[in-house]
Amino acid sequence: MSAEELAKRLAGTHVTVAGLGVSGVPAARALHRLGARVTVVNGGEGEGARRQADELTALGSGMTVRLGDDRTLPDGTDLIVTTPGFPPGSALFVAAEAAGVPVWGDVELAWRLRGPGPDGSPPPPWLAVTGTNGKTTTVRMLASILTAAGLRTAAVGNIGVSLVEAVLGEGEHAGLDVLAVELSSYQLHWAPSVRAHSGAVLNLAPDHLDWHGGMREYAADKGRIYEGNEVACVYNVADPATERLVRAADVVEGCRAVGFTLGTPGPSELGVVDGILVDRAFVENRRESAQELAEVSDVRPPAPHNIANALAAAALARAYGVPPTAVRDGLRAFRPDAHRIAHVADVAEVAYVNDSKATNTHAAQASLTAYDSVVWIAGGLAKGATFDELVTAAAGRLRGVVLLGADRALVAEALARHAPDVPVADLGRTDTGAMEAAVREAAALARPGDTVLLAPACASMDMFVNYTARGDAFADAVRSLAAAGAERDERGR
Ligand code: ADP
Repeated sequence: MSAEELAKRLAGTHVTVAGLGVSGVPAARALHRLGARVTVVNGGEGEGARRQADELTALGSGMTVRLGDDRTLPDGTDLIVTTPGFPPGSALFVAAEAAGVPVWGDVELAWRLRGPGPDGSPPPPWLAVTGTNGKTTTVRMLASILTAAGLRTAAVGNIGVSLVEAVLGEGEHAGLDVLAVELSSYQLHWAPSVRAHSGAVLNLAPDHLDWHGGMREYAADKGRIYEGNEVACVYNVADPATERLVRAADVVEGCRAVGFTLGTPGPSELGVVDGILVDRAFVENRRESAQELAEVSDVRPPAPHNIANALAAAALARAYGVPPTAVRDGLRAFRPDAHRIAHVADVAEVAYVNDSKATNTHAAQASLTAYDSVVWIAGGLAKGATFDELVTAAAGRLRGVVLLGADRALVAEALARHAPDVPVADLGRTDTGAMEAAVREAAALARPGDTVLLAPACASMDMFVNYTARGDAFADAVRSLAAAGAERDERGR
């Protein structure tokens, strides 16, 4: 069915949107505008949910919002459009299946609604990125590279920008040439029709297994990003599971598997040679030649996992035909997001780095191994993770560890097993004010030249509203530490 036919078909149908938030609200709004009768159901009924509900009901007749823990299928539902908040086994979907009602994710809806540009040009293709860690960074690098090539683009999807809004081409999304799309495993689960121009899986480590039901299901959902790719399936040479997903995918004839590696690249790979990012995939003679793209120092921050992100972004951009100079210019223009390996300050010759976004062990391991001597601030909600592998990999770099948060004992036990000589300060606290004490403890453990790194390997919701609030608390505490030091110096003069 064409996008136009779908839009016509939606008029008059009853669509239940599962979940408010950054994807639910725009989807509900778009469906209502297309003439559908919309019921939004949302479990939470806090202040934020009520505000969003009021915003939607103000659109007038045909829009109903049901807040609270009613899990029944609204009467007469023809289609469910779901946001990632609802796990596959939710009562709502069980009821939908029994009633023969289809369930689409908001990304599926977006894909099906893609229409031609104003001049009848084909809809902008999607360059899509997924992976356990590094998605947002890579998608933003990709958008920066595409922009440097003079293309009109936007970073959209799981990054916090509704794909439904983006494909309808309104406002700032009018007249785009190509989309840089971040897709989570949740979104891929409910978006079976999406066919990206080229897709990348950055890495695969256990995360969100409670939502998916297991590692096999999680990997399979991530692997959907490669289905129907036209030009390149980009995978991580260091993570063979990502290559296996490429092999399992059904792609358009002629689509290539392209690897990225921090080592010297083989043919059909992008990699690093003597501090230079090079391309041996999208060059005339890839058996014998390589194309220089950028220097490692063009990537900010130049931590190994971030170079990997840059190579993945470059691979997707090159697959789309972007010239090498645009890769370099785009990487140079890129500014990392806050709370992702962000340098806060140097105090008494110790660097303080905020990686509050390291909410799982895989991410924390990547950032810990980017520094030689670290005082590590860790702990929070473990989400079922174990810490043995992480602690074993990082043990040799740890000057000391400061623990806080609900599941800190799990980290402490792994430290006792694999790094028994490393000093550990367990704050025994889960209150918001504990971050100030954590930074003071870390400062006491650190020696000149060390890095104090907040990379909790855990989610933040036991102590903070979200990882941003946790990172802000850390940065504030570091600034107080710096101010106290400056005052002492002043008095000592
Ligand atoms: P996502 O959107 O997948 O959550 P982000 O780009 O926001 O990823 O980065 C989240 C965290 O993951 C960062 O703070 C960093 O600690 C870590 N990280 C980023 N890129 C990688 C990577 N390629 N491999 C492992 N960890 C990474």
